[in-house]
Amino acid sequence: MRNYADAHCDTIVRLFEEKKELFMNDVHIDIERFKTFYAPLQFFAIWLDPKYYPISMRQTMKYIDFYYSQIEKNAEFIGHVNGYSDILHNMKQNKMSALLSLEGGEALEGEISALRTYYRLGVRSMTLTWNHRNSLADGVAERGSKGGLTVFGHEVVMEMERLGMLVDVSHLSEAGFWDVATTGNKPFIASHSNAQTICNMPRNLSDSQLGAVAEKGGVVGLNLYPPFLTKEKQGDIEDILKHIYHMLSIMGEDFIALGTDFDGIDCTPKGIRQVQEIEFLFNRIEKEFGEDILEKISSKNLLRVLEEVL
Ligand SMILES: [Zn+2]
Repeated sequence: MRNYADAHCDTIVRLFEEKKELFMNDVHIDIERFKTFYAPLQFFAIWLDPKYYPISMRQTMKYIDFYYSQIEKNAEFIGHVNGYSDILHNMKQNKMSALLSLEGGEALEGEISALRTYYRLGVRSMTLTWNHRNSLADGVAERGSKGGLTVFGHEVVMEMERLGMLVDVSHLSEAGFWDVATTGNKPFIASHSNAQTICNMPRNLSDSQLGAVAEKGGVVGLNLYPPFLTKEKQGDIEDILKHIYHMLSIMGEDFIALGTDFDGIDCTPKGIRQVQEIEFLFNRIEKEFGEDILEKISSKNLLRVLEEVL
């Protein structure tokens, strides 16, 4: 059985909204189908639909409560991760590890105390923005503003580093990206972004951005969303391979991870409809690049960053 570590999915929000269960369901991810892999690690992001921005914190509380209720119901199969030792502990028992993340600093409502309180509630990773401008920074959809981190955003990044939370630059504007790259000392991640040279989309990263993530020791998580893989057709496993080839040439083999975006995307690449079918991608990576690189991409690289940051 293979290892698996994925830096991004939106399953918790989707299950809450569709009133479904984490153990077994008909969305992209459930515990039952995860049994294909050995003690997988999954980041569970809490994403806020912009309609919730006026009640960001209240809605985030509902999702966090739902997350824990699902973890508690399935305690024999899955354990929440506060620190790296929790991952090792879960692995020993062949249990899944769940890492709680926030997708967008809207959840803070401009309060640094909220960041610390989310940390106390078990949040261990946060993308600073979603696509729009918030009190931390400009998101990637703010074309032309050239806005990066605000003073508050800078404070948040420094406090996340101090606490031991992963700073995630997916969805952040380019100026914001470079502010993060030059702010902290610890590795940061782009949890679910691909290579712009292969597919020129604002949500993907330029070669110099890929290089900067690697230089800081972070990872870029491969996003399965077909429009981020190729503009020409419905993306497939071969298109993911093209991104891996390119990222290997720019970053080397220690800085690529998975960031599937399962349950946050309305279509998937040909051949990967749900989580257990990642196995097909793994087979193809192993054939193309060998077992060592597969192990790094499928889990080791992300685990290394978590060991260093949490
Ligand atoms: Zn996203």
